[in-house]
Amino acid sequence: MSAPASSTELHRLTAHEAQELLSNREVSARELTQASLDRIAAVDEQIGAYLTVVEEHALAQADAADERIGRGDGGPLTGIPVAVKDNMCTVGIRTTCGSRMLEQFVPPYNAHVIERLNDAGAVLLGKTNMDEFAMGSSVEHSAFHPTHNPWSLDRVPGGSSGGSAAAVAADEAIVALGSDTGGSVRQPAAHCGVVGFKPTYGRVSRYGLVAFASSLDQIGPLTKDVRDCALLMNAISGQDPRDATSAPIEVPDFTAALTGEVQGLRVGVVSEYVPGDLDPAMRGVAEAAVKQFEELGATVEWGVSLPSTEYALACYYIIAPSEASANLARYDGVKYGYSYTEGESMWENMDKTRQFGFGDEVKRRIMIGTYALSSGYYDAYYLKALQVRTLIRREFEEAFERFDVLLGLVAPTPAFRLGEKLDDPYQMYLSDIFTLPQPIAGIPSISVPAGFVEGPAGERLPVGLQLMGRPFDEAMLLRAADAYERATSWREQRPEW
Ligand code: GLN
Repeated sequence: MSAPASSTELHRLTAHEAQELLSNREVSARELTQASLDRIAAVDEQIGAYLTVVEEHALAQADAADERIGRGDGGPLTGIPVAVKDNMCTVGIRTTCGSRMLEQFVPPYNAHVIERLNDAGAVLLGKTNMDEFAMGSSVEHSAFHPTHNPWSLDRVPGGSSGGSAAAVAADEAIVALGSDTGGSVRQPAAHCGVVGFKPTYGRVSRYGLVAFASSLDQIGPLTKDVRDCALLMNAISGQDPRDATSAPIEVPDFTAALTGEVQGLRVGVVSEYVPGDLDPAMRGVAEAAVKQFEELGATVEWGVSLPSTEYALACYYIIAPSEASANLARYDGVKYGYSYTEGESMWENMDKTRQFGFGDEVKRRIMIGTYALSSGYYDAYYLKALQVRTLIRREFEEAFERFDVLLGLVAPTPAFRLGEKLDDPYQMYLSDIFTLPQPIAGIPSISVPAGFVEGPAGERLPVGLQLMGRPFDEAMLLRAADAYERATSWREQRPEW
């Protein structure tokens, strides 16, 4: 049994490490929660991971967790401090979605995942920063403030769940939840050196997740290691009658998959995700990871091609904005959210509500989506994108006849500088080039820390390895990622704070 952690270091623990101390009564949930809150107070001014911190609420939940543990009724997440992306509804706690539109919105109900966390006895620390309505790759589209990468403060944390990724990387939360529509859990996880997981479409209920693109959105964990990811997946997965897209498929115990065993696993390296023109240092990370899998006894084959990958960006940027334009029509200033009321007519009020309530990127997406769905263009754009979607899905299906796991990088570069891509939406979109195909196909995909490359000022910038799997075979991905994590020491390397 490990020595009791000193109270100044509690915030650094993983959930499973903390749970051991909690259940042995070496530490209380209140102490653990206070340690996370103190950490937030000490560093969040520099990081900007949170939009709202709910100190009193957290301590009250911690006390309830301590009581529960005292009764011998605790589970793996009882008393564990969690950060949640600010697009998941929390009763009595504002849920802004990173937007002026919802700046004052206090939901009357909890998202399904929040209910599940509450049932598990977890402690909500607060709500994390994000790109407005989850549209972006850097958190720079947050209406409130940017978030800084804990590894290099002048760089972005990735996005749109960059607040959750930075909170975990800077030890401002033990674990976190984010949402992934086109990479928003995995890309920030890669840039911040933490684990990020997008489950299969349908694995986790989106009830109470503010909708961006409903055929793509999934909620997923951001954690310090793969075991914590499995623990969170156990808590949040499973069918929910309030989300008709959540699947009636049995949820295994994901921690049982973490055997450390990948002997004979068939791994395919996807050429399009480790392209020839990649920076040599980034390529080196992928090559080293492949070697590691070979040493662990996996059968690895290079050169697996998914040729439709090249159309994924175009396909995504038709489908996602189309769905967003429909989903965001509800923000008209009538029912909830920001409302402009000084106009001379209802139409003027609606106009101004949307003009002032939405930021530029959100407006851009609404315009693209409205255009793509309009009569005369629907067939040329939206329908075509759906056809490409089928091709992308089929290519994955064929590849998974030969391989258990597909491997590539999460992003073509490490975290970029704040401001670097802000004026060039296309460059920003390209940073998700490797993380768009999986939501398009609905398959699960994990980002696991795989090393570092050096920035121009000598900074160490984390790189994420992406493993993709068959629908509802999250267990296989978690097993492979965990075996890789155990064989490497990346997990122990943390930003200096
Ligand atoms: N960066 C992508 C976008 O801007 C993906 C965002 C996401 O996954 N929510 O749409």
